[in-house]
Amino acid sequence: MASLLRTAAKSAATFAGIAALAATPAYAAGAEGAAPPWAMLAYLISGVFFILALRGLSSPATSRAGNRYGMVGMVLAVATTLITHDIANIVEIAIAVAIGGSIGFVIARRIAMTAMPELVAGFHSLVGLAAVVVGFGAWLDPVSFGIVDEAGQILAVSRIELGLGIAIGAITFSGSVIAFLKLSGRMSGSPILLPARHIINLGTLAAILGLIGYYTVSPQGGPGEGQLVLLIALLAFAIGFLLIIPIGGADMPVVVSMLNSYSGWAAAAMGFTLGNTAMIITGALVGSSGAILSYIMCRAMNRSFISVIAGGFGGDSGGAAGGAPREQRPYKQGSAEDAAYMLEQAEKVIIIPGYGMAVAQAQHALREMGDKLKEKGVEVKYAIHPVAGRMPGHMNVLLAEASVPYDEVFELEDINSDFAQCDVAFIIGANDVVNPAAKTDKSSPIYGMPVFDVDKAKQVFFIKRSMGGVGYAGVDNDVFYMNQTVMLLADAKKMVEEIVKSLD
Ligand code: NDP
Repeated sequence: MASLLRTAAKSAATFAGIAALAATPAYAAGAEGAAPPWAMLAYLISGVFFILALRGLSSPATSRAGNRYGMVGMVLAVATTLITHDIANIVEIAIAVAIGGSIGFVIARRIAMTAMPELVAGFHSLVGLAAVVVGFGAWLDPVSFGIVDEAGQILAVSRIELGLGIAIGAITFSGSVIAFLKLSGRMSGSPILLPARHIINLGTLAAILGLIGYYTVSPQGGPGEGQLVLLIALLAFAIGFLLIIPIGGADMPVVVSMLNSYSGWAAAAMGFTLGNTAMIITGALVGSSGAILSYIMCRAMNRSFISVIAGGFGGDSGGAAGGAPREQRPYKQGSAEDAAYMLEQAEKVIIIPGYGMAVAQAQHALREMGDKLKEKGVEVKYAIHPVAGRMPGHMNVLLAEASVPYDEVFELEDINSDFAQCDVAFIIGANDVVNPAAKTDKSSPIYGMPVFDVDKAKQVFFIKRSMGGVGYAGVDNDVFYMNQTVMLLADAKKMVEEIVKSLD
């Protein structure tokens, strides 16, 4: 649950960052004079609201209040920006907001819950691009941005901020585009491993930093200045691409949160260039919360951050990571009636939802099944893996949408020891997160990721559509073939609805 809330917190802060970014031209137009003290205070107060929002979103009970704090902070920040500056181009701003808002509205209405990860990646790319565009705007017209000294030269500190802002923005943009293509299936999820990629990556990063350093000390308007700034941007676009293509298999969750973090730092860097406190605060909040979430995801998957960034994990398997032929092994298949009978006989049932539940939109039927079992005196708990589904907190969002009580939902480390005492482990559309290969098979792309100990349960029901389908990491799962496992091969929603009928 904590991961969900942190994700929600980041989303609120991302919104704050984007809005602050959008408000930038208005600030820039009047940036020659310092913001009045009351405006600085207002930005500070809005920053406090954002921090309260993050705090509120760290627990289900306070998350609504957290959202409200975020909204108040956002209104305050945008209103302050609009009031304090000479908004000569208010019509342009209104047109831009109308166009962008309408596109966002249509996308938000149409997007399927299962497509949220690629949508998030796509939106991150826009934050990166906005930072690059603002950076170039400041470079082209530094006087309007108030970043020149008495001799009319761009201040050294502003050049560093500008160079870093453009570089981080460009990395965020191209990295997010690749993540979008991989997550939406438009590009293979398999790692693409270039020979000597570590040397190429380190060399490119060193070149970017060297060029920013050179730009900082070189005279303004000197020969080749334009090409220099352009080269920084091009190399940064390239490194964003190079950093994400080798990441594959089950490591994409970390990529999503990592790019979220980059987008925050890009906005914060621009905030320094523009002297906009709200952007600095919100950018730093997004950057740091994204970094913390990346760390949490890495820990949940037992990966070091460096090994994920270096990439190449999950390259040898099927599914998202390839397609190895699988041997035929005997398994038991059951019906909804069989499952209903065993479930109502049980004392303790643990439900493990995964990506398939999201695909089938089975959460409402599942909650109904849980309610029926509880009426019959069965103890029902839900077990959520940190990387279940396709985005951090995916399962928590769906269960909350179906009004599953928060106190029945447990995270991996809090519930894993309960499987030894549970009568039925009910797996619905999950696969990788219950795959014991993560514990035993060193060659598996998910090796090392902590998984639910469903093999310790007395009885296992496993809902998926066919024996042919695999999880995201694309590997076979020994749980299908265990003695105590009964496969329920059907669409998750249909199967659970039939179980509910049989429980009546
Ligand atoms: P998996 O992707 O491992 O498995 C999904 C399962 O759902 C499959 O067995 C599939 O089998 C089944 N399924 C799909 N559609 C339906 C349906 N309509 N009805 C019933 N079953 C269905 O899911 P998990 O949640 O266990 O694991 C998540 C994986 O995704 C991890 O490897 C994780 O690293 C990765 N990932 C997670 C992200 C995150 O942020 N959480 C982001 C990106 C990747 P079948 O096709 O036979 O039905």
